[in-house]
Amino acid sequence: MGKYTLPQIPYAYDALEPHIDARTMEIHHTKHHQAYTDKLNTALEACPTEIQSKDILEILANINQVPESQRGAINFNGGGYDNHKLYWNNMKPNGGGEPGGSIADAINDSFGSFSAFKEKFSSTSAVIQGSGWGWLVYNPSTKKVEYKSMPNQTSPRTEGLVPLLGCDVWEHAYYLKYQNKRPDYISSWWNIVNWDEVENRFSKAK
Ligand code: MN
Repeated sequence: MGKYTLPQIPYAYDALEPHIDARTMEIHHTKHHQAYTDKLNTALEACPTEIQSKDILEILANINQVPESQRGAINFNGGGYDNHKLYWNNMKPNGGGEPGGSIADAINDSFGSFSAFKEKFSSTSAVIQGSGWGWLVYNPSTKKVEYKSMPNQTSPRTEGLVPLLGCDVWEHAYYLKYQNKRPDYISSWWNIVNWDEVENRFSKAK
C-alpha cells in the first residue's frame, strides 16, 4: 500500500446540491482524486528515500529538489492530491455568505472590498485556459492575501504561497450539471464556501 490514501470528505456526496450534484462529487472523489493519490504514491516510490520520507506539502514547497525524472509526476499528482483535499474541506452545505474575522480584514486590505475580491476571483478563474484552479492565497513575503490562477494541478505551494481557498475549474468539477457554463458553476460555488475553514488556514499561515 502506498504512503497516501484517499482523503475523506466530511459530508455526503449529495450535501452540496443543488450547487454541485452528487454524481459529480462521487466521480470527482472516487475516480479523479483517487487517481491523483495512486499516481502520487507510484511517483514517490520511484524517488530516493530522502524524498519519500518528507511530507508532500514540504515536497511541493521544494519541488525542484525532486529528481527530474519524477518532478512532473509529483508536481501534477501531489498537487492534485493536496488541492482536492483542500477543496472538499473549503466547501460545506449551507456555506457561503461573507467571511468574518481576520480573513475579512485581509481581503478588504488587498482587494478593497469583499465584492471586489469576489468579482476578481470569479472573472479571472472563469477565463483560465484549459484546466486549472483559482486560489485565494497568503503570500508570506508580503504578508498579504492575493488571488492566484494556477494551471492544471500545480500547487500554489510550489511558488511559496499558502493556499487558503481553491476553486477547481477543471471541466470534471462541473460538466455534468453546467456543461460549458463555467461562470455559472463559479457563481453557484460561492454558496458553499466554508469561510470558517478559510479563516483556520489563514490563522495557521500568518
Ligand atoms: Mn478536480
